[in-house]
Amino acid sequence: MPREAGRVLLVGAGPGAADLLTVRALRAVETAQALLYDALVCDEVVALAPRACLKIRAGKRSGKASMAQAEINQLMLTLARRGLRVVRLKGGDSSVFGRSGEEAAFLRERGVAVEVVPGITAASAAAAEFGFPLTHRGGAARVVLATARRDGGGFAGAELEALADPATTAVLYMGREVAAAASASLIRAGRSPATPVLVVENAGRPGARAVRTTLDALAPAAGDRDGPTLIVIGEVAALAKSPALVDLRPFEEGVAIAQLAV
Ligand code: SAH
Repeated sequence: MPREAGRVLLVGAGPGAADLLTVRALRAVETAQALLYDALVCDEVVALAPRACLKIRAGKRSGKASMAQAEINQLMLTLARRGLRVVRLKGGDSSVFGRSGEEAAFLRERGVAVEVVPGITAASAAAAEFGFPLTHRGGAARVVLATARRDGGGFAGAELEALADPATTAVLYMGREVAAAASASLIRAGRSPATPVLVVENAGRPGARAVRTTLDALAPAAGDRDGPTLIVIGEVAALAKSPALVDLRPFEEGVAIAQLAV
């Protein structure tokens, strides 16, 4: 019999609020013996792990790694081989810009069993929080989860074609710093400058807020923000609303602010 090489659970923590964990994810966290969590995971979720659980912040934020990926991989391997119940907890869904593919491959190649527990990705949380759908009959036939970070915000080839199509809802992850380049690239490819855009910060977390604008005015709206921010481009952004919306009015530059009441 080969030696049992351990097991790691790759768990999506959802957008932040603890009640947006799946029941399966909650069970995984509550029974973890070692928890490696990313910066986007809220404290209230980490606090659900047992007191005796080894809790390690392995988080990255905007590319600033507090621990190198190779180090995280090695740590998971070591802990799993010691027979601990290891939970790798990531914001949102670990299969969406979460490196779950790389981590799973690293572990499986070394004989460690990997189980994936899905989570609510930020795009779904943003849609729920601000009351709009990601697809919409008649107008938004598809949703593309993309990152504007790669290549400094420019898109190319088939990806650009899909994102520039008026029937696409484009959700840009990690897009704040490259918002200007992303908007210019899409407009050059033929997407209307008047396309509605919603910039959503802290979806499904405390301090959620959204700014509604248009594609040609995206850069100033993306502005300076502290929280994780998504950019939703497409007709569905015009449907955004919230019962807690306190302000939704055009500013001089045509930017409307939608802010959640506290
Ligand atoms: N796996 C995550 C995404 C990780 S990439 C998921 O499925 O949601 C990190 C990027 O996700 C951030 O830069 C931001 O663009 C987006 N993001 C993550 N959580 C968010 C949140 N609560 N609100 C808005 N955007 C979020």
